Amino acid sequence: MIDPFGRRISYLRVSVTDRCDLRCVYCMAEDMTFLPKREVLTLEELDRLCGAFIGLGVEKIRLTGGEPLVRKNVLSLFRSLGARIGAGGLRELTVTTNGTQLGQMAEPLYAAGVRRINVSLDTLDPGLFHAVTRWGALEKVLDGIFAAKAAGLAVKINAVALKGVNEGEYDRMLAWCGEHGFDLCLIETMPMGDITGDRTDQYLPLSLVRSRLREHWTLEETDYRTGGPARYYAVKETGTRIGFITPMTHNFCESCNRVRLTCTGTLYMCLGQEDSADFRALLRDPSVDDAQLQAAIAAAIARKPKGHDFIIDRRHNRPSVGRHMSVTGG
Ligand code: SAM
Ligand code: SF4
Repeated sequence: MIDPFGRRISYLRVSVTDRCDLRCVYCMAEDMTFLPKREVLTLEELDRLCGAFIGLGVEKIRLTGGEPLVRKNVLSLFRSLGARIGAGGLRELTVTTNGTQLGQMAEPLYAAGVRRINVSLDTLDPGLFHAVTRWGALEKVLDGIFAAKAAGLAVKINAVALKGVNEGEYDRMLAWCGEHGFDLCLIETMPMGDITGDRTDQYLPLSLVRSRLREHWTLEETDYRTGGPARYYAVKETGTRIGFITPMTHNFCESCNRVRLTCTGTLYMCLGQEDSADFRALLRDPSVDDAQLQAAIAAAIARKPKGHDFIIDRRHNRPSVGRHMSVTGG
């Protein structure tokens, strides 16, 4: 699939649920209204739709959310997608998780074919973790991360850079990741969805973070890519990598290779734009076959916009896009 700007679309991110067992302050409001079940695609519908994308050239699928691992029976989707790895056309199946369920799910994920996972962890301080997630327990997540490592999964830690919140922690987190062999990826906060509070207060440009880190660490530029938008540096002292995802300070849209599917079957061709295509009605129409489904996907890709235009400053204090990150999946 080639979009109107010549970009090959080979990566599908699927939000399998909008629900979550945490309420990170930058992601959700405290009191969220979640979708009624009938609006959410079944796991079988999700598998069929993913299969149609794979048939059109998608090689990498990441399941996300909400918290993907709290969806009931989600392992069955991992298994059915995992069976498509290799001759089935899929090259990689991954997941982004908050880690709370990994203690019991790491091994089954590995068995289903997952080899790399991203775990979101913004701080190593138990009190701060509790505050950022509104009620999460750090210890449970750390246990989950070590269960993942023990199961053979490569772990990347994702942390959202939050001014005045976890700003003083990146040295410690980098050292901890180095000690355990995890890559670390820092992410600029993006203006998505109404949250309780003001995003201008949270936004921390990563260019600043990088130069601060360089006071203590030797960061060497690499051309390592994981198929995502992060720019990676090798950390000489640890032998691990640090990545920076900078949607605000550096627009990475030129090399975008992905589209995002929500759990209701809505495809967003860009994380930062409102245009979308609905697949739920097609999936639930018995007269629509896979060829028609694929024709609809191709038509949506033909509308993929050039890029996002996120702005966070005092004059633009409304979210650039109304939906929360947990809807489209981070
Ligand atoms: N619940 C899972 C988790 O936390 O990893 C998966 C979904 S979560 C929406 C995916 C990623 O998006 C997380 O790393 C989270 O920190 C990030 N995220 C959420 N809201 C964000 C925002 N407004 N700006 C930047 N990143 C955000
Ligand atoms: Fe849940 Fe992930 Fe959003 Fe945190 S970032 S509230 S864990 S979906």
